Amino acid sequence: MLLNSYKIARVLPCLADPEKIRVIAEISDEIHEVFPYLNAILKGCIFNHPALTLTIKKDGKLFTLHAHHITLAKIEDEKEAEEILRWLKDLINETYEKRDQVEPNYSMAAELKALDIFKLLPGTNCKRCGEPSCLAFAVKLVGRDIEITKCDPLFSEKYQEKRNVLLELLHAAGFEVPSEFLNH
Ligand code: SF4
Repeated sequence: MLLNSYKIARVLPCLADPEKIRVIAEISDEIHEVFPYLNAILKGCIFNHPALTLTIKKDGKLFTLHAHHITLAKIEDEKEAEEILRWLKDLINETYEKRDQVEPNYSMAAELKALDIFKLLPGTNCKRCGEPSCLAFAVKLVGRDIEITKCDPLFSEKYQEKRNVLLELLHAAGFEVPSEFLNH
């Protein structure tokens, strides 16, 4: 067994949806060894090697596995968090046990899609970034031809919630983001 136990350590307001919660769970064991195997069997993961994180997207929620803790976002309540953590623990252990039968996937995978980014931009098409529209900006950002900091409005208080989610996604996918805005 790779992961023996977990414990909910912090419950915070969700950055993406104030009516939901964000949960940080401490885990008893280092789990990064299983990341390439989970990345191989699950669809839509973001595997960030340098940061040693694996982000799983499921039912509109984001679960980020770190070497020593797990973060859950957009969670209804602690009961749901417990259910997800139980599911993750089983998934981690089952995947680890059958790792000899799985071809590990070390790719960053699940490249962020321009549309995923677009949904989290202000959406005003103000052109302050030098692009004709937010969608054009998102396409360039995915191609790493422009930096997220060029979207000035995103860094205003008005877009704080969208920004937090977008920066977290970008960071998980290995993009450069201003560290002072990350909420880890
Ligand atoms: S600056 Fe931001 S909000 Fe304005 S068009 Fe560019 S991406 Fe959209």
